[in-house]
Amino acid sequence: MQEQLINPTIQKFRTEFKAEPEHIFLSPGRINIIGEHVDYSDGFVLPAAIDKYICFAVRKLPQSNFCTIIAKDLGEEYTFDVTIEVKPVPQMWMNYILGVFSQLQKSENQFCGMEIVFSSTIPMGSGLSSSAALECGFAYILNELFNLHLTKKEIAVIGQKSEHTFAGVQCGIMDQFASVFGKENKVIMLDCNSLEHQYFDADLKGYSLLLFDSCVKHSHLTSGYNERRRDVEHGKKVLWKNFPEIEKFRDFTLSMLDHTKEEMGDISYKRCLYLLKEIQRVEMAAKAISEGNIEYLGTLLTETHAGLSTEFEVSCIELDFLVENTLQKEGVLGARIMGGGFGGCSINLIQENRAEEVIKAISEKYLEHFNIQMKVYQVKISDGIKEYTNEYII
Ligand code: ADP
Ligand code: MG
Repeated sequence: MQEQLINPTIQKFRTEFKAEPEHIFLSPGRINIIGEHVDYSDGFVLPAAIDKYICFAVRKLPQSNFCTIIAKDLGEEYTFDVTIEVKPVPQMWMNYILGVFSQLQKSENQFCGMEIVFSSTIPMGSGLSSSAALECGFAYILNELFNLHLTKKEIAVIGQKSEHTFAGVQCGIMDQFASVFGKENKVIMLDCNSLEHQYFDADLKGYSLLLFDSCVKHSHLTSGYNERRRDVEHGKKVLWKNFPEIEKFRDFTLSMLDHTKEEMGDISYKRCLYLLKEIQRVEMAAKAISEGNIEYLGTLLTETHAGLSTEFEVSCIELDFLVENTLQKEGVLGARIMGGGFGGCSINLIQENRAEEVIKAISEKYLEHFNIQMKVYQVKISDGIKEYTNEYII
């Protein structure tokens, strides 16, 4: 990582600012092991931070009011005055940063200028949450440099709000939470509503997590998402009308759901059926991980894919193809589409010493069938955002 990410970021800082950075921060991307679409339905999710990061090289400029930020991977730079109220700008990447700054720009917080270069090994827009790494990374930097006394939870919430207000993406809290709260070799079971969370040891016992990036993103992502939310809201309304004593969606049983099937209609029924089963799967997956039952974890991942594909209907032919073909290979315990759907990555649980042959076979097949070269990311469960304090003299 030092060679690939940290050193080049520092080099760029030196070349551009003719100075040494004072701090290096690493802000990770995340995976979600299981728990898809349940964040707005009282469900749990099971994310973890990964060993792919945005690296920030930073220096404070006490005599200046100007903050200059260089996005090395895009070859772009932006400067703003920290004493003037910030507004969204046409440079999309900068909005994640300005959205954070705008929330902290209050009279009690005294800022001065800064110089920042950042660069990343998290692929952009592939569902590994480079956006959360960017916004939470910047909030973390401000907190450290200007002693803002923000809690980790506050940093995650500021990141999420930045995305809502300045980037225009109505995301849940999972991505930001994982990026901030991640711990090496631990998955986080998070209740997205209350933000209560628990860590579970993740010893994968000779299996590894591989992501296959289909490199497709279908346009129904937003429209499909809104439609699914409408279907689910309708289903919930019917459920609560029939069973007003139930407090949380996750407490409805499958027999209660069956009881209301006719009234809510087939579509809402299928959507709610997926959600209730998925919420149960997350709890079972956390247990399976903590007991070292990796085989069962794999089975649950595959069940989630079937649910997303046939009940929630957010998969697509490319991802179904990847999952089906991967599952046929020896040494594969489970596979599923990861994220909101309609494209992106699959997450696969594959025996370490078989990974290479599975990758080769699946990428050849995918290329042959769709004429697309899939990308592969092998990830390890890692720590959340932190300052990099190792020697980095280069
Ligand atoms: P994801 O979070 O799944 O990677 P998003 O679409 O939510 O996808 O966020 C991607 C956006 O975040 C990019 O389009 C860009 O604006 C910003 N971003 C992420 N990483 C970088 C980077 N290394 N350099 C500049 N901008 C970045
Ligand atoms: Mg994102």
